[in-house]
Amino acid sequence: MKKFVTVLIILTMVLMMAACAGGGGGGGGGADRQDETKTIGIAMPTKSSQRWIDDGNNMVKEFEKLGYKTNLQYAEDVVENQISQIENMITAGVDALVIASIDGESLTDVLAKAAEENIPVIAYDRLIRKTPNVDYYATFDNFKVGVLQGSYIESALGLKEGKGPFNIELFGGSPDDNNAYFFYDGAMSVLQPYIDSGQLVVKSGQMGMDKVATLRWDGATAQARMDNLLSAHYTTDRIHAVLSPYDGISIGVISSLKGVGYGTPNLPMPIVTGQDAELPSIKSIIAGEQTQTVFKDTRELAKKAVEMVDAVLKGEEPEVNDTETYDNGVKVVPAYLLEPVSVDKTNYEEVLIDSGYYTREQLES
Ligand code: BGC
Repeated sequence: MKKFVTVLIILTMVLMMAACAGGGGGGGGGADRQDETKTIGIAMPTKSSQRWIDDGNNMVKEFEKLGYKTNLQYAEDVVENQISQIENMITAGVDALVIASIDGESLTDVLAKAAEENIPVIAYDRLIRKTPNVDYYATFDNFKVGVLQGSYIESALGLKEGKGPFNIELFGGSPDDNNAYFFYDGAMSVLQPYIDSGQLVVKSGQMGMDKVATLRWDGATAQARMDNLLSAHYTTDRIHAVLSPYDGISIGVISSLKGVGYGTPNLPMPIVTGQDAELPSIKSIIAGEQTQTVFKDTRELAKKAVEMVDAVLKGEEPEVNDTETYDNGVKVVPAYLLEPVSVDKTNYEEVLIDSGYYTREQLES
């Protein structure tokens, strides 16, 4: 027994000495690699829109819950910045990348470098195109987002009941974002038949993404285009609806409309759609200016992307529910699509406050 205790004491001392030698100084080489925490690089497009700030923070929270470290970067909508941020993440040895691209076709070279290092890549919200080196895609049903916007205009104007003609102008998202085409096509799948029948009239004649796109989703660009449309086509006739794909664009459009007197009893605001349920837009909906938006719960999207990364790093297959829609020009990227929800004055409390996305104070201050 005595012998056994002595052996035990010696063994404990040896183990303690080994632990001290390995833990000190930080230059321990590969000795403590097995309990190294994995780091995930998260490349987000811009902080100029609240949704991306929320997406980033939500992912950091979810990754930390699972014991990962994160490296979160925003590129302020400058493509070259995003490329060099991703390059730096690769050099720093991240274990996986989650990317919401600025220009979906600009990452081919940098992702080839990621592939050389065997770093898995998850496209976040926006499809990354023209590369084989994207493993999975977490997003919303983007075509449906457009359908929700188009259907809102359809029912608000009573188009199904045969009402009209009404004047409408169309806005698209950024031409370098694959989503913008899905939103536009989804909306036009509802609206085009009414344009064909004459119930909807696009007085400017500007239709198709090549005519209506808004580079980098910029609200000021949209406002300037709306100013031109109003002065060229709506000095005697009024406009009844504006298809807007994103809240930041809707806010720009509304400023332009207010500038020429819309939003008064004689000249009511047209129907203006949107997307993302951003705070200024929900306030605008409550104030009776913007009419609708599409809520995409960034908490759910963040969770999905994190689950995908976690599965891939464990050598498991992530859950997907779409293996057909998102052809990136090289391959069809397996995707998980979440459901978007249309929001207006009648349901914002239930959808946004009851779910804890916003507090009443945030919306009513
Ligand atoms: C996203 C939208 C967002 C837009 C502008 C799109 O890729 O899917 O939610 O409104 O970018 O940021």
